[in-house]
Amino acid sequence: KLVSREFRQENTQICVGEAVFGNGTMPVIAGPCAVESLDQVLAIAKAVKKAGAKLFRGGAFKPRTSPYSFQGLGQQGLEYLTRVREETGLPVVTEVMDVETFDMVEASADIIQIGTRNMQNFTLLRRAGKAKKPIILKRGMSAMLQEWLMAAEYIMEEGNANVILCERGVRTFVRHSRNTLDLSVVPAVKKESHLPVIVDPSHAAGVRDLVIPLACASAALGADGLMIEVHNHPEEALSDGGQSLYPDQFEQTMKKLTDIRTVI
Ligand code: PEP
Ligand code: MN
Repeated sequence: KLVSREFRQENTQICVGEAVFGNGTMPVIAGPCAVESLDQVLAIAKAVKKAGAKLFRGGAFKPRTSPYSFQGLGQQGLEYLTRVREETGLPVVTEVMDVETFDMVEASADIIQIGTRNMQNFTLLRRAGKAKKPIILKRGMSAMLQEWLMAAEYIMEEGNANVILCERGVRTFVRHSRNTLDLSVVPAVKKESHLPVIVDPSHAAGVRDLVIPLACASAALGADGLMIEVHNHPEEALSDGGQSLYPDQFEQTMKKLTDIRTVI
């Protein structure tokens, strides 16, 4: 299998802007759950860049549980992400939801994200395999390790070797967090695969105060990067405000992380 350590012994390294995923450093991707306005993304991008984030994140197409929730700004949101790149120099990560909008997302993104709900959308995975940009493949919320790796295999088999795996918590019976961060999957994946594996503590936690210790634990564990949601006005956020860090909290977190790993 292309994903396996047998196929490739050395770790795959993926370079985007100043970040390298897979070389022992831990670049941090930060930004809001959703792109809401130009002012919002520019303000957050400047703050996270100052704190040491190497990439900016923000969804223009949002996979919401309810069809009545904010669905994202679509193409307009992608244009705002382009402005973020132009004004801050930060590369941008954004989610693709379907094959129909793939070309549009690919043109605007530096890294294309496939979300937990699409981990086994095989037509989308095959299209991602034809993309010229790296892919962040989030783990399905109930996916086993082998299912996740086989999803990555779909992308690689079509010719795209630049896949970054992202653990974002799995569905369990607990109520104190939105999902349960499966810390053990990080070393387990690294044993099976040469691909970089990053952690998203925000969607695992679901509440902002839990995000910080989970980020530190992921750093200690050897994660190849982190993805953290940050919002300048979380109480007014159109999605995931409760798990979004305030900019000053993010800055403090980056300082803590720097004591554990090479982040900046
Ligand atoms: C997100 O990154 O905002 C997101 C929707 O993540 P997930 O697919 O992990 O729920
Ligand atoms: Mn989110």
